[in-house]
Amino acid sequence: MKAKPHALSVSIDTMTSYSFDRKGRLIGAYVDGINYKRGLDNSVLRKWSTYGGPGPHRHRRKLEDNEKREFFHEMTKTLEHIREFPDEYTIETPEGRKSTCRWFERAVEHNFDALEADAEKIRRIYKPVSILPPDQYYSLVLQITEGCSYNKCTFCNFYQDRRFRIKSPEDVKNHICAVTDFFGESLGLRKSVFLADANALIMPQRRLLEMLEIIRDSYTIIADDTRKKEIARRRRAGEAVFDGIYSFIDLFTGDYKSETQFREMAELGVRRAYIGMESGSKALLEFLEKPGSKAEMVGAVNKIKAGGVDVGAIVLLGAGGKDFDEIHVEETVDALNRMRLDTDDFIYFSDFYPQEETRYETVAAEAGIEPMSWEDRRNQEQRIRAGLRYQDPKTGPKIIPYDIREFLY
Ligand code: SF4
Repeated sequence: MKAKPHALSVSIDTMTSYSFDRKGRLIGAYVDGINYKRGLDNSVLRKWSTYGGPGPHRHRRKLEDNEKREFFHEMTKTLEHIREFPDEYTIETPEGRKSTCRWFERAVEHNFDALEADAEKIRRIYKPVSILPPDQYYSLVLQITEGCSYNKCTFCNFYQDRRFRIKSPEDVKNHICAVTDFFGESLGLRKSVFLADANALIMPQRRLLEMLEIIRDSYTIIADDTRKKEIARRRRAGEAVFDGIYSFIDLFTGDYKSETQFREMAELGVRRAYIGMESGSKALLEFLEKPGSKAEMVGAVNKIKAGGVDVGAIVLLGAGGKDFDEIHVEETVDALNRMRLDTDDFIYFSDFYPQEETRYETVAAEAGIEPMSWEDRRNQEQRIRAGLRYQDPKTGPKIIPYDIREFLY
C-alpha cells in the first residue's frame, strides 16, 4: 500500500491493484490483468486488449449491475483482509509503515452500497456529464450552462435530455459550493476546470467574465507561465491547484466572439477551447445537419489562437460513410492546414459510432449510405494525416485518438 498526495494505491500482487481518492472512493483498478475505471456515477468501465490479427485490439464495456456488485464485493473483501493481517503486506502510509491509515479505512468503508449512495449525491449536483475531451477526464467539471444551444445534429445524443440554459451567477455559486463539498479532500486529484455543457462560452461576454471571476475566487487557477516543476511541487504538498480553465466551443459561437474577447478569457485563465469541427466538408456538415462551413471554422480557430487561447479540433472518422469519404478527407485536410495550429494545440481523430436515439441511422439508410468499417476508418485517418502540413511534431499540433466509448466522469 502506498500513499501519494492525492491517490492511495493498494497493490495485492503484480496482477491486482486498486487506487482510491482521498475520500476513499475507488478511482481505478487492475484485476487479473484487466483495467477498470470507475466514474463518479459509480459506473465501471472494463478495458482490455487483444493482440494480433486485423481489427481493433482495444476493447471496453460497462459492467452490468450484478457484475459491478460482485466486483466491489471482491474489492472490499480484499481490503478487509489487509486490515486484518497488515503484517502480510508492505505498507507505506502517511501514518507510518506497518499500519493502515484513516485514508485506507475510508476505502474499506466505500463498499458497493456506500459508492451507490455517493453516486446519488453526484446526480443531485450535476446533470449527467455527457462527454469531455480525453485530456480533460480528470478535470473539475462546472456546469455553468446546461445542454447545447443548437442540439439538432443528427448524430448527437449528448444533450437530448435537457434544454439549453445559462445559469445565473447565484446558481453557479451554489453549484460550486456543492461541487467543492462533494469532492472535499479529493479535489487535488482534479487537474483543471472544465466549463460544461456543450456551449458554455456562448454566453454574453460580460456574463462569462463574471463567471470566470467567480471561479477564480473559488479555486486556485495557476498562471499560464508557471513552470511545470512548481505546479508539481504544490500538488505534492497536497494543494488543489488547477492548470487552467477549458471548455467546448462551437464554431458558430467561436465565429461571433472577437479576438479581444478571447484575449479577455485567456487573461482570466481560459487555456483551450475544444471545437467539434467534425469535417471541413460543407456537404458532410449539411448531411449531419451541423451548422457552419470551412471558412467559418478556420476563421474561428485563427481568432481563438490570436486571442491567446489554444485549440483542440475534433475530426470525425467515418461519418457519412463511404459516400462522403473523398470529400471529407480533402476538405478536412484543407481546413486543418488553413488553421494556424502549433505545438500547444491538439487535433483529435474520433471514430464515428452511431448513437442510440439519434436520427443519423434513419437519415443514412434513407440516403443509401454505405457505412465504413474499422479498416476503412483507419484508411481515412491515414489519408488525412498524410495531407496535413503539420508533419513535424516539434512545431505542429499533437494528434491524438479520441474514443468516446472510453469516457467516464
Ligand atoms: S454535436 Fe455539438 S452542436 Fe451538435 S448537437 Fe451535439 S453538442 Fe450540439
